Amino acid sequence: MPSLAKQLRIIFTSDVHGWLLPIDYATNQQTKRGLGILSSAIKKRDPKSSILIDLGDTIQGSPLMYYHHLHRKIFANPVAVFMNRLRYDYFIPGNHDFNYGRTYLKDFLKQLDVMPLCANIEDQHGLLVKKGYDIIRKQGCKILIIGLTTKYIPNWENPKNIRGLVFNDPVLEAKKIIDKHKDEVDLIIVAYHGGLEKDLQTREKFVEDTGENQGFKLFDSIPEIDILLTGHQHRIICEQLSDTVVLMPGSNGSHLGIIDITIDEHGGKQIKPSLIAAEELEPDLELMAQINDIERANQAFLDEVIGFVPDNNLFIEDPQKARIEKHPIVDFINDIQLEASGAMVSATSLANAVTGFRHQITVRNVLSTYVFANTLTVVQIDGLHLKAYLEKCATYFILEDGEVIVNPSYSYPKLEHYNYDMLDGIDYCFDLTQPFGSRVVSIKYQGQEVLPTQTLTLVLNNYRATGGGDFEMLKNLPVIREIPFNVAELMIDYIRKHKTLRVKAKHNIKLITKKEDC
Ligand SMILES: [Zn+2]
Repeated sequence: MPSLAKQLRIIFTSDVHGWLLPIDYATNQQTKRGLGILSSAIKKRDPKSSILIDLGDTIQGSPLMYYHHLHRKIFANPVAVFMNRLRYDYFIPGNHDFNYGRTYLKDFLKQLDVMPLCANIEDQHGLLVKKGYDIIRKQGCKILIIGLTTKYIPNWENPKNIRGLVFNDPVLEAKKIIDKHKDEVDLIIVAYHGGLEKDLQTREKFVEDTGENQGFKLFDSIPEIDILLTGHQHRIICEQLSDTVVLMPGSNGSHLGIIDITIDEHGGKQIKPSLIAAEELEPDLELMAQINDIERANQAFLDEVIGFVPDNNLFIEDPQKARIEKHPIVDFINDIQLEASGAMVSATSLANAVTGFRHQITVRNVLSTYVFANTLTVVQIDGLHLKAYLEKCATYFILEDGEVIVNPSYSYPKLEHYNYDMLDGIDYCFDLTQPFGSRVVSIKYQGQEVLPTQTLTLVLNNYRATGGGDFEMLKNLPVIREIPFNVAELMIDYIRKHKTLRVKAKHNIKLITKKEDC
């Protein structure tokens, strides 16, 4: 007797961040990650018995997409080209998909032959996301698919990029939809651009429960979910617990999530999750060739020499050391922010991986030194909040046998060295022999100790100005003005204008490692 079991496959990507071609643009070397590799496995799917989903943070994060956002009228959006050819079924917007602004996102969605899905975005003008969930039949199986994104987006994003959008609680929205439809469907899939706040097995806390990551809450409070697809934290997760599978496929096209489902004639389900690593696959040359034109133009743009460093002091050998000792490239970024804003104090950080500049500076060097699509915000800050801000920065360090090392909580569960800020315009001192919260022993502006009630103007990126990275003390500061330019663009313009960069390290951050005077 033939088997009546139905076979179904769910395939998904997340946090591709514009990594389409397997190239590390900082060095132009081949890498083993990118959608142009994962596609070798995606292409083998049978659309009749499979569903292909992208979980967002897709259109921002690579030099190719930076180039595209500058030339979007000339070239088709390369992410849309890839996703359309691979016949994706659903796209869930992630936080970074808003970074290049509404028009850019709208333009992308217009080109995309894929259904955007997000149940917790209330779109007051109905421009971006029209549908929160979908119910479809595949292989005779009735499936509910719910799209969700992190509700924390308004804490980071430039307000003008998300005007008219309300970000509701994803857990409440998912519950409502599931309660309404659970009795009529065979399978429930939740696709959430957000991560896990707790360990699924031990329930141990990974990160503060700010609402940025609510994957555990979804898993724990809605047992009807069969498949929980997650992202945003760039982790590699493939777990099967009680009746739910939970996956997260890394970032930049490092992994592909696959869930195989067998449903027998009595409705019994067998669900098997797995991940395929891009390292095990070969590049998909046919797909990659579809974006040859823009890639050629992008490469020429990246290689243009725009300036020089006569003192050869802006190259970063060791990013860790560059933070501990405050590399002159930090002074350089802060100098540009101070010049662009007229503020008294400037703050910046270095991305997890940064290159800095050798003797000649190309656009490629700038984009691999300032990798975020941040704009700037000028706020007013008093001495009290400034101290709280610096206390948070001081948690980056710990002392081990008198040696300064980086606090491991900046490496796990997520690599986030970019959450250590370095400020210019003031001189300050951390006493690392003291506990967290009592380490800032001196903050001087123009040689004078800053008083708790004294106000200063501070320029910082929009992510941090909205409290991103758990900088609660910065969240509600009075905003003086927004500077709607990308920091990398400001750097490129500055270097083009000045050509020769002479940057002096200011050595304005002092770290005390044993009892001594500051
Ligand atoms: Zn994200």
